[in-house]
Amino acid sequence: MKIHEYQAKELLSAAGAAVPRGIVASTPAEAQKAFDAMGGPVVLKAQIHAGGRGKGRFKDSGKDFGGVKFIRSRDEVGSVAEVMFKYPLVTKQTGEEGQRVSKVLVQHAADIAREVYLGMVVDRAIGMPVLMACAEGGVEIEEVAARSPEKILKAPVNPDAGLLPFQARPLAFALEFTPAQVPQAEKMMTALARVFLDKDCSLAEINPLVVTPSGDVLALDAKMTFDDNALFRHPDIETLRDETEENPAELRAARSGLSYISLTGTIGCLVNGAGLAMSTMDIIKYHGGEPANFLDVGGGANKDQVTEAFRILLGDPRVKAVLVNIFGGIMKCDIIAAAIIAAFQEVKPKVPFVVRLEGTNVEAGRKLLKESGLNITTASDLTDAAKKVVAAGR
Ligand code: GDP
Ligand code: MG
Repeated sequence: MKIHEYQAKELLSAAGAAVPRGIVASTPAEAQKAFDAMGGPVVLKAQIHAGGRGKGRFKDSGKDFGGVKFIRSRDEVGSVAEVMFKYPLVTKQTGEEGQRVSKVLVQHAADIAREVYLGMVVDRAIGMPVLMACAEGGVEIEEVAARSPEKILKAPVNPDAGLLPFQARPLAFALEFTPAQVPQAEKMMTALARVFLDKDCSLAEINPLVVTPSGDVLALDAKMTFDDNALFRHPDIETLRDETEENPAELRAARSGLSYISLTGTIGCLVNGAGLAMSTMDIIKYHGGEPANFLDVGGGANKDQVTEAFRILLGDPRVKAVLVNIFGGIMKCDIIAAAIIAAFQEVKPKVPFVVRLEGTNVEAGRKLLKESGLNITTASDLTDAAKKVVAAGR
């Protein structure tokens, strides 16, 4: 789960990090009020979960600014906020349709002398969280990592102890903070590590961490992603969820205990188990098709789940044909076939359906499908199924 910049900054601030003053606004009028309260130039920051806002553009707005705009006057706050709320923001991470903005952060503008990068992730190779730091901040860190990986400094962080002073101090000096700034930088790193560990983040970033001309160290931008499997122990984080930022079909599937992943092709895939999903997508592509999505009903698909799964799959207008590929291991094929038939009768799909069943009681399952009188094409094996569904989708 991701959260907005302003929420991430609240968490960081509570852990002792210095962040610029900011007020969240949901309308242009609120943004102007926030500007009045701030009493000075501000940066208007569109709150969306995707990164790269500064270099983004508001689709069809005809404006040349992105989701981070430096502003001096009250009138400009209103007109810029209007654009931000009206047009979707397109960045490298949003896809070309962009993302609607429902909140902007009106932030006290900082003067910047230097921009530094701080981030924390789980390093799977060493099996530990690792703090990353780079003296070249603000820019895209992936580019620095690709161009000159030696510039990314790393410190493994023990999850019980947190980031210790003997780790933070040399990093702060290596990042060329002056002796007067080092304690502030250390505090920032410690706060980032604390939030990451306490809240079960999978990613936490401050980019840029800035030094002002007067020597203050501030977290100017923040980004956080949380491990979904640990959310149950963080009800406070769960309340920060913004469902408008999430894919509606994925959200609907999650509510019914289904995993749904939206892709870009035309063939809907209903499968049980992630491994089968991967091989189903591979074989569809091998035979010249492109999956529109995959929906994993897991180990125990009942009628209600299959019905909901059909609705989600068919709710995607790009889906031109559906492949149901189920292995009856724990679930028996005749039970699955009955669930498919019941769901089919209820949802009444208008696109071709190909079903491939394998496993326990497969003969009984196939017989049920055949005798149902429904417009379902059965397939004898995976290759047959893929060929049939690709042909049907054309
Ligand atoms: P992102 O593009 O989504 O990562 O948004 P950021 O908050 O990181 O902003 C992008 C860039 O805008 C930063 O790297 C800064 O260079 C600039 N910026 C953001 N806030 C301020 C500010 O308060 N003052 C100044 N001078 N520049 C800012
Ligand atoms: Mg940034």
